[in-house]
Amino acid sequence: MSTGRPALGEMLADLVELGAIEFRPEPLDALVERRLKAVWTARSCPNCGAESLQALSNSSRIWCGRCDWKTTYTRGTPFYNSDLAPGEVLIAFVLYADSLLSINQIALLLSPCYKTLFERIKETETAFHRGFPTVWGHLPQTVKGPTQIDETQQQCSGYKGQEPPRNGLDRAGSSSEAGRTRWSGEWGDELTLVAACRDSLRVVAAEEGVAYDEELGPVLEEVEDLSQSLGEVWTDEFPAYKAMDHDRRIVVHDEEYVTDDGVHTNQVECLWSLIQPWLAKFRGLSKQGLEQAARTYGFVRSLNLTDAPLRNLVSCIAVNAFR
Ligand SMILES: [Zn+2]
Repeated sequence: MSTGRPALGEMLADLVELGAIEFRPEPLDALVERRLKAVWTARSCPNCGAESLQALSNSSRIWCGRCDWKTTYTRGTPFYNSDLAPGEVLIAFVLYADSLLSINQIALLLSPCYKTLFERIKETETAFHRGFPTVWGHLPQTVKGPTQIDETQQQCSGYKGQEPPRNGLDRAGSSSEAGRTRWSGEWGDELTLVAACRDSLRVVAAEEGVAYDEELGPVLEEVEDLSQSLGEVWTDEFPAYKAMDHDRRIVVHDEEYVTDDGVHTNQVECLWSLIQPWLAKFRGLSKQGLEQAARTYGFVRSLNLTDAPLRNLVSCIAVNAFR
């Protein structure tokens, strides 16, 4: 149930609509450039196999000293050939993934064109999903302890494969209602959101099934992939968990929230309380949109629980350009 007012983010949204916030993307441009050039110069030439490539700090070119091959350091990343500077792409994605601002409001800050910004954010999100497992696997950390897993129902909009309508930018700034139009389409299928928390790792997926194999299995497999062995799994008494063949310990929520020996699913409950207001900012999501958003939130939360979330975010977005 929604009261129509998010618990967080209203003041920030007001600042945006008043035009009170301005960004300096240059430090981020420099961060992206340093990061990408470091990776380029460490790799071999894709054309002739020469051991390393060349880069200079005052040029965007990457080239091979042996053959004619050359490219731009942003090639293959969402930063390439963009109307937005790399720093602006990063700011847009961080505001999208890590705040309660809508894409409408982010467009007010960064780009007059909603469509361009929307596409750039989606492209960045796809790259982020693909790059996360690689970067996560290289972080100097050990993910250990029990895995807490829980599920919740989430309704999505009935418009398959489409995003819900948004209000036009022409109204933005001229009215306090700008960006607040409610999704009034038909509400459609329910998806099950499944979240698993282990140490600083958060995996959130939207699944269609109602049985263990369909909805819980994939998430647990993913946690296992991202943290080596799975360890103990803590669940509530939900029947689908009974099919699990993992070591499993249950807390029965009708009776208690923490068992005498300390089994609980509080981390996941906490994650739900964070993700619900964030999902609500979309004012309705298609099935595909919900799947993507849920996944993004889990990975972003995981990075936020690491030492250098922004640097790791840049790596996630760019890493697949070099494979
Ligand atoms: Zn070469």
